[in-house]
Amino acid sequence: MRTLRGVGIGQGIAQGPVVRMAEPLPAPDSTPSALGADAERARAREAVASVAAELQRRGEQAGGAAQEVLEAQAMIAEDPTLEEELDARIAAGSTAEWAVHDAFAGFRATLEAVGGYLGERAADLDDISQRVQAHLLGRPAPGVPDPGHPFVLVARDLAPADTALLDLEKVLALVTFEGGPTSHTAILAREKGIVAVVGAADAQSLATGTLAIVDASSGTVTADPGQDEQDRAAQRIADRRSADAAPLTPGALADGTPIALLANLGRPADAADAVDRGAEGVGLFRTEFLFLSASQAPTVSQQREAYRELLSAFPGKKVVVRVLDAGADKPLPFLNDAHEENPALGLRGLRALRASEDILREQLTALAEADAETEADLWVMAPMIATVEETTYFTALAGEYGLRTAGVMVEVPAAALLADRILAHADFASIGTNDLTQYTMAADRLLGSVASFQDPWHPAVLRLVAEVGAAGRRLGKPVGVCGEAAADPLLAVVLAGLGVGSLSMAPSALADVRRALAAHTLDDARRLAEAALAADDAAGARAAATAARNPS
Ligand code: PEP
Ligand code: MG
Repeated sequence: MRTLRGVGIGQGIAQGPVVRMAEPLPAPDSTPSALGADAERARAREAVASVAAELQRRGEQAGGAAQEVLEAQAMIAEDPTLEEELDARIAAGSTAEWAVHDAFAGFRATLEAVGGYLGERAADLDDISQRVQAHLLGRPAPGVPDPGHPFVLVARDLAPADTALLDLEKVLALVTFEGGPTSHTAILAREKGIVAVVGAADAQSLATGTLAIVDASSGTVTADPGQDEQDRAAQRIADRRSADAAPLTPGALADGTPIALLANLGRPADAADAVDRGAEGVGLFRTEFLFLSASQAPTVSQQREAYRELLSAFPGKKVVVRVLDAGADKPLPFLNDAHEENPALGLRGLRALRASEDILREQLTALAEADAETEADLWVMAPMIATVEETTYFTALAGEYGLRTAGVMVEVPAAALLADRILAHADFASIGTNDLTQYTMAADRLLGSVASFQDPWHPAVLRLVAEVGAAGRRLGKPVGVCGEAAADPLLAVVLAGLGVGSLSMAPSALADVRRALAAHTLDDARRLAEAALAADDAAGARAAATAARNPS
């Protein structure tokens, strides 16, 4: 038995035999063309056009976020700059195969050098390149194998075209040895609720036929598990099925203490799924996700439409919309135009919006207009607040636009440490544990080499959460958590014990968290929280909370 580690997406668990995805086509050789430039150019054009059409077709078949991703890929395939690059190589004597291989590799290197969100699009380019080369060679497009039985798919990284159309009856889980938590594979796996562990470098050694348990909640893949592990996994799989089938009651601890269960959304179109899964509202709407590919600031009317669609899905329910959080992992060209050595410590979040206040004012205008036309209970909040002054700036501005409820995200340790003073000027606080962990532990959340520090179970992070929870209770102001920590069922109980009153997460996590809360009273939650706070490190906190849950 061997255990491999990667980054788990969601909370799922699955077991089954491994099937490896075929390795990519080898690089073509670079001998000059025997056909001549005109013929090679025509071959390249035809191959690119037919791959773009196939990506479009797959997108239409898949729908949802996958459709957008695949349509974007089709556009990249037909990008005029790439066409020029291909033509230049062919004019210099290359075959179409070599020109495609070389031009896409150049584009990939440019994206990788940019890093972050764009860097993680590199796998998309490899996929298009491989598809076009396969077409030129008359070979089948690389893709997901079909062994005729359910299996655990192990791949270098999956292309959006493959992830989008995974047959969930057959693919029990997905393991990649490249790709990070913000790769398209991860985004689509999260949306489709596929059990996935990404970036598990040692998974390269898993051979087809090996039995594997894939546990996304711990980010582990266990190869050749013993009978005990197999039985435990089977029990957890059965438990999750029953949680999925359980009634969609509002979130509450076993003694009835309400802990609202809210959804994190990035697109209005995802609202229906959140409602179906029993979300009691929205705890974080990431407005920057609407505009990640826009080069110019969106207009008021574009924004109003998007917000109206979102708010209409939640009549009478709370919907917390965050104003644009641009910078670092989510750059928006129209807000972040200066090069910064350390963008996570730079002009991001509210700081970037203040530097372009007209954009913030337009966003608040659009929100106020959408609010007036719909029945939801709109709350607005500002990201990356570090000071009391930023708090009063934002809440006063929101007030100018008639927005009734204005709060702040607590993502910077300074804001957590002064939570009582910050909350004195805000209607609520929502703790963003992803950034709060990044800044508390001084560990870039996008950097695989420091991923082990990026663990919200760390008692230093929990102590900051406790500060905010206590301040909220003293001042009678709601405190929620909307970082990934809220989606970890055991940590969710600990957060409730630290005084958090609502938890917001990817809708696919709601069932597991609902079930964990219902199994603990407020006293239990406080006991678990105390045990976790007393530990020395993240692993110790997790172990202490687990032990406190099951006293012998
Ligand atoms: C967070 O930082 O925890 C958060 C919810 O915001 P984002 O992940 O969008 O930065
Ligand atoms: Mg954040």
